[in-house]
Amino acid sequence: MILFKKTADLDKWLDAQRKKANIIGFVPTMGALHPGHLSLITAAKNGNDLVVSSIFVNPTQFNNPRDFEKYPITIEKDIEMLEQAGCDVLFLPSVHEIYPDGFSTTKNYDLGFVETILDGKFRPGHFQGVCMVVHRLLDIVSPDNLYLGQKDYQQCMVIKKLIRIIGKFTINIHISPTLRESDGLAMSSRNMRLNTEERETAVTIYHSLLFIKNNISKGDVTAVKNQAKEILDNAGFKTDYVEIADATDLTLLNEWNGQQKIVVLVAAFLNEIRLIDNMVLN
Ligand code: AMP
Repeated sequence: MILFKKTADLDKWLDAQRKKANIIGFVPTMGALHPGHLSLITAAKNGNDLVVSSIFVNPTQFNNPRDFEKYPITIEKDIEMLEQAGCDVLFLPSVHEIYPDGFSTTKNYDLGFVETILDGKFRPGHFQGVCMVVHRLLDIVSPDNLYLGQKDYQQCMVIKKLIRIIGKFTINIHISPTLRESDGLAMSSRNMRLNTEERETAVTIYHSLLFIKNNISKGDVTAVKNQAKEILDNAGFKTDYVEIADATDLTLLNEWNGQQKIVVLVAAFLNEIRLIDNMVLN
């Protein structure tokens, strides 16, 4: 695996690869890698000549400074894992490489409705930060294929919208299913911050999704949402939201017609660690 820290060096190398008509797959990450991330590398290995990954803990997407300070960093181990997974290139930029003009950017992405709900509502500015970094990374890497995880369901929608807004890219987006621990907890870098007791409790998020899956029926869905929230409250979570939405456009639903493809989305704090998860139903 080749490691690049400078945008200019990666740019030059990728230009040469494109001249050889190599197809490029890209897997952006914030590091602290786990098998969920590696499943994206594996997916990219199958459809591309070259797999580029990036590790960058993006300051502009953290609405909570303490969450940024505490974000796990395991770079040596990450490099080993990427190498073993067969990743060809790792881009490991500094903050200055990504934001050469600082954070005072005039960019404001018109994300519309998707930014007003769920994490858009509870993490003000978060998706603008995601768009800033993804826009910059796509400009640098210019991949043919982009690999994202369903774990960040709303983020996938935001990035699709960003690519439409930018207009100039022809990138195929591939969304991989959420990889889970054996008890069902969605793998996440933030799980590294959980102590033993919190780790045991964390799986309740998955149980709350299953509860909705097993108890939802046609008609009013507010009661089942409230019951799922109660399950989280009783386990000691501070819940931001338990929502049921149309799986294609994330319109939030209080009524379900029994046919519509839906997704259940949860975000909740266990002490100061915020976890998210989702499950597509029917
Ligand atoms: P992150 O490092 O958290 O920014 O995640 C980088 C990419 O990995 C994103 O596209 C995530 O959606 C994806 N990802 C994170 N956790 C998982 C998981 N448990 N299963 C599959 N993909 C994941």
